[in-house]
Amino acid sequence: MDYSDVRNLISYSIKELQDLIDKKRDDYAVIRLVDPEECREVVINDDGNFEYGTSCYKLWGSCSHCKNCTSFRACRTNCEQDRREKLGEQPVSVRSIPVRIHSDDTESPVGTDYFYTLELIREISDDKQSENSPAHSQESIPGRTSNSNPEHPENSSEISPKRTSDNENYLLLHDMLTGCANGDGIRLIIRHALQENLDQNYVMVLTDIRRFSIINDLYGKHRANQLLIHFADILRKAYPGAPIGRIRADQFVLFIKEDQYDPDRLESLFVDLEAEEGKVIKHIHVHAGVLRVGEKEHELPVATLIDRANLAIQSAKESEKLHVIEFSQKMLHDMLQEQFVISNFQTSLEKGEFQIFLQPKVRLDGSLAGAEALTRWIRPDGQILSPAVFIPPLEKSDLITSLDFYICHQVVRKLDSWKGTILEHCPISVNISPKDAYYIEVADLLEQLCEEYQVPKELLHVEITETGLIETLDSNINVIQQLKNRGFQVEIDDFGKGLSSLNMLQHIDADILKIDMGFLHNTSNEDRRNIILESVIQMSRRLGMEPLTEGVETEEQAMALHDMGCYLYQGFYYSKPIPIPEFEKHCMNRKAAFGKAHG
Ligand code: C2E
Ligand code: CA
Ligand code: CA
Repeated sequence: MDYSDVRNLISYSIKELQDLIDKKRDDYAVIRLVDPEECREVVINDDGNFEYGTSCYKLWGSCSHCKNCTSFRACRTNCEQDRREKLGEQPVSVRSIPVRIHSDDTESPVGTDYFYTLELIREISDDKQSENSPAHSQESIPGRTSNSNPEHPENSSEISPKRTSDNENYLLLHDMLTGCANGDGIRLIIRHALQENLDQNYVMVLTDIRRFSIINDLYGKHRANQLLIHFADILRKAYPGAPIGRIRADQFVLFIKEDQYDPDRLESLFVDLEAEEGKVIKHIHVHAGVLRVGEKEHELPVATLIDRANLAIQSAKESEKLHVIEFSQKMLHDMLQEQFVISNFQTSLEKGEFQIFLQPKVRLDGSLAGAEALTRWIRPDGQILSPAVFIPPLEKSDLITSLDFYICHQVVRKLDSWKGTILEHCPISVNISPKDAYYIEVADLLEQLCEEYQVPKELLHVEITETGLIETLDSNINVIQQLKNRGFQVEIDDFGKGLSSLNMLQHIDADILKIDMGFLHNTSNEDRRNIILESVIQMSRRLGMEPLTEGVETEEQAMALHDMGCYLYQGFYYSKPIPIPEFEKHCMNRKAAFGKAHG
């Protein structure tokens, strides 16, 4: 038999694979593409995408093959494998060939490679004959090794189903330390349970011991292993007979029927464990991500179910106290959004999709005191994404510095273009992330930009958030001082949103203090709010910083702020952030007045 067509391509596109299957179909009784981890056939649908088909144990009429599936082995070892099988009453030979498939969809941001196995199934006359003369030839695929390669004894015929001992099957699917299933084992058990019990709802619990690597380092591997064994025992005792698997060093999966699930019980299980183990191991803390597996989730790959429970764990990790947290669709949405932002950022930046909107900063009479540059991401379909969507992922991935530098560049160019117009003296402020100071010499770069475009430095204001200042106080004080020394105006952003604002003010000497009204908006006690605002305004002045209140939404607020001694405002009452051409048009037409002039 000639497999050369299959072998010449190690990595296929979906289309190439489909063509190959079509071409080979006549040579075999059956050709199947399988996802061995899921124990299911994968079919290519009319749209050219993958879809799950028949489960393997349904096709072979038994589940025993799963334990020693050659397709599973082929995928894991990247080596072809042969086995004999019965399809109904008909003896067949199955050659499993691992294939890697890359998606044709170049737009797709993540997960474009699939590792599946192609099963080439031929009818053979009877078992005896086939044992003497293998139905499949022994040639090897370039870049891969066939199961008969003597250099790879682990893939030799010794591991063919007939000769594999039960003990080896056990080793393949179990964790030697705890006696639970291992990752592959638990995935097969769960897939089987879901396939066999379509009407049954389940709950998957994924547990994770916080900072397990530190426990390993501090208390030694032996003690850490004891903890894992103890942990597995506790789960086994609490949920007798339920599938339990250790999928990574300190991560266990528990799969129970929905009516067995009681979050309080799970919570107290972990509390008890922590109390007991805590006598020796300090600060031990267990997180658990919980996923409800209903009708919709039955068809999802088990690896996806585990990923979802893992997402819940990531949220649980943000809390020191919480043990158990349930997966929600919002977590998935946030994660996908985050991936979208990170993977599309660079090309979108190059295409000019990040644009500056300007929000005016005004005096009481509505005259313009400056503007703040606030970034919007305009997608090719016209959708406008707000900073709340893209700034947090960019900060998390440290890509924010590229954006901030780009925006600074655009702002300086804009200031340059305003020379000789009514906006010639209008300063623009840019937002600088606390991360920027780690990666770039902010003051040097801004100075270079201003020199390049011959823009006066006092027209470029720099806003740094108060929360950022608290997190990285030392380096940011340095940046503020450097910026001020070079002649830039520094504004402390979002004052009042953080927790230790007052403490921070001791160390910082900026030009403007932006007080965030937002944190006082929802108050039932206006008198007390005004006392706080007035005190902050006065304190700001006494510390040598001009106060500016942002988030001003009504005329009454502006008037009251004026009476308290604040003379600079920013907020929807005057204008929302608007595209630059609109901002320029407004300033030209209305002599730079925003909102209703009063005073
Ligand atoms: P921020 O610097 O505090 O900007 C003010 C935010 O408050 C803006 O939201 C603005 O639209 C909103 N706002 C203004 N007036 C009012 C009002 O009267 N009422 C209410 N409810 N909101 C008002 P936006 O544009 O969505 O920006 C959110 C945050 O994203 C900004 O907060 C800033 O921290 C960050 N950001 C925006 N652009 C950039 C950027 O280029 N770089 C960096 N590092 N951060 C940016
Ligand atoms: Ca700001
Ligand atoms: Ca602000």
